[in-house]
Amino acid sequence: MRIVLLGAPGSGKGTQAQRLQAEHGAPQISTGDLLRAAVKAGTELGKRAKAAMDAGELVSDDIVLGMIHHRLAEPDTETSFVLDGFPRNAAQAQALEDLLTGIEKPLDTAVLMDVDNDILMKRLTGRRTCSKTGKIVNIHFSAKEDIEDIVANGGELMRRADDNEETIANRLGVYREQTAPLIDFYRERGKLVTVDAVGSMEEVQQRLLEAVGA
Ligand code: AMP
Repeated sequence: MRIVLLGAPGSGKGTQAQRLQAEHGAPQISTGDLLRAAVKAGTELGKRAKAAMDAGELVSDDIVLGMIHHRLAEPDTETSFVLDGFPRNAAQAQALEDLLTGIEKPLDTAVLMDVDNDILMKRLTGRRTCSKTGKIVNIHFSAKEDIEDIVANGGELMRRADDNEETIANRLGVYREQTAPLIDFYRERGKLVTVDAVGSMEEVQQRLLEAVGA
């Protein structure tokens, strides 16, 4: 399975990619996670990316494409991968297509995770990550026990730096202007499927698996 998860911030790409990795062994490649790790480690790349990330803007294509080239050369991506948060604009989509054609690993499917705007806002403002395990929960939607478990196990509920109202609005604007046009890019290539991404994690996962024929 070689897939791209497309969708607005908060549409659940990261959550579903984590599940596909855990249950189907398809490595999750999240440019957002790779960039956050670089920022945390204080690398040169992280320093260059930080300002754009804090503002909810896109990091430059050369940084992101370099990371993707590197990651897709690693052996665990030989038969499958789930791209989460990449590509995010037309230039990235074209570069990905050229790269995958060159290494003879064409994409199977681009999955559009479809969610209404109101729900996106709640998901983004309520999103928290466990400081210990990286598990993602939502203070508006997750089961009370899941949140209590994290705290009971000594984890802290961390809010991502870019999950504040102002940056969220900017990220949604960037999505509409730069990333949403990729829906047509993949539709024209016959690779697009749309998944209703509102529902429990299990329901959405089931729809996603059916959509990609897994
Ligand atoms: P995400 O975790 O996917 O929501 O990404 C968080 C932030 O990282 C975005 O708001 C961008 O600043 C940056 N980012 C992640 N992926 C990309 C990408 N493919 N191209 C440019 N910037 C990205």
